[in-house]
Amino acid sequence: MSNCAIVGINWGDEGKGRMVDLLTEKFDIVIRYQGGGNAGHTVINEYGKFALHLLPSGIFRHGVVNVLGNGVALDPENLWSEILTVSEKGVPVSPDNLKISDRASLLLPWHRDLDGLEEARLADKKYGSTKQGIAPFYSDKYQKKTVLAGELFYPERLQEHLKDLLEWKNLTLTRIYGARPCTMEDLNAWLRDYCDKIKPFVCNTGAYLKQAVKEGKNILFEAQLGALRDLDYGIYPYTTSSNAIAAFAPVGGGLPSAKIDEVIGVVKAYSTCVGEGPFTCEWFGLEAQQLRDAGFEYGAKTGRPRRVGPIDLVATRYGVETQGATAIALTKMDVLSYMEKVPVCSHYVVDGVVTDEFPFPAALPDAKPVYEYMDGWNTDVSKCRTWEELPENARKYVEFIEKRIGAPIKYVSVGPERESIIIR
Ligand code: GDP
Repeated sequence: MSNCAIVGINWGDEGKGRMVDLLTEKFDIVIRYQGGGNAGHTVINEYGKFALHLLPSGIFRHGVVNVLGNGVALDPENLWSEILTVSEKGVPVSPDNLKISDRASLLLPWHRDLDGLEEARLADKKYGSTKQGIAPFYSDKYQKKTVLAGELFYPERLQEHLKDLLEWKNLTLTRIYGARPCTMEDLNAWLRDYCDKIKPFVCNTGAYLKQAVKEGKNILFEAQLGALRDLDYGIYPYTTSSNAIAAFAPVGGGLPSAKIDEVIGVVKAYSTCVGEGPFTCEWFGLEAQQLRDAGFEYGAKTGRPRRVGPIDLVATRYGVETQGATAIALTKMDVLSYMEKVPVCSHYVVDGVVTDEFPFPAALPDAKPVYEYMDGWNTDVSKCRTWEELPENARKYVEFIEKRIGAPIKYVSVGPERESIIIR
């Protein structure tokens, strides 16, 4: 048996979905261990093109069992709509290949409302939330003010529990935000329309996973977002509200004793960032637009244009260390083919000092990038399938990055399709 985690090294959107989709062949089980429907993993395969938000990317592979662990923000409404979307394209989804932890907490209808209300209150100081209710959900989870998916099997107790939560939450909705209160009718409609639909998938995934380990099954943990968005290790407060790093995978996945044998960190050949917060290598104007269009950098969930810039080796090395990455997948090499010279941010200047240490979040807005320039390869690399087929300058770029970030680049992705990959 071997366990592997596929994680983001930077700000998210590195192409984790396409890597999980590629590698699930070798695994029996794929587990999502944190986050919710606020991200989008884009996967292109024989069924079509999908932006998965909560469903694990192993859902497309026959024989793979997909698990939503206790660490996720389980949004029944989003999940049910996602199940319908993939089912309509011919992907089989049943309790045999999708299992939801009975210990996963439910994202309640007011969480999404609260996200919007708080972003509106913050106005120009907003964090750039995707308004999926993730931050209010995790705050409530840690306050023990939400319900577990397994409570759906105890309807009477659930009604009592929801009544208590409703009374408490309405104080916030009405007195702080002046919003409409939620009613038990609203909650019962939500239970009927969405929770009852996902209930057949809810089970004791802990027991299932323990048995799977005994049987020697191979498990893949799939992360959402990247190290720089991790609640504890990222650019706080411009982080997500959960732990996206590999160290959290056993906890949030529902297998706390698991040892992760391999951590594959996904890095994009350039930098992108969705939402607010310091982004040292950011490009603006024409140069940014050219890169954004070349890489089609628009959010999978929100359609928002992503902020873009050259690869940031200071942030990337920090991400590699934080994730404990044992191998790297470098994605979107094909996108840089148009550049005559490819800039690489190798250091920052902070307070007049050149450094390759990633600064404390409060020092980051003052950091200035130091660039080195590599020769471009100026040819379409999207058809390359072996290391030797890659142009020499592209290989030099990969080797340069590898040397600076301290982990071997094992995969080079040259297109979004499953087969557009070079394995070294
Ligand atoms: P994730 O959240 O980390 O899975 O990343 P996203 O799905 O949000 O963003 C990655 C985007 O890049 C998706 O549109 C992918 O289809 C696309 N993609 C992934 N790898 C490659 C690649 O090597 N080349 C190109 N051109 N697109 C890629």
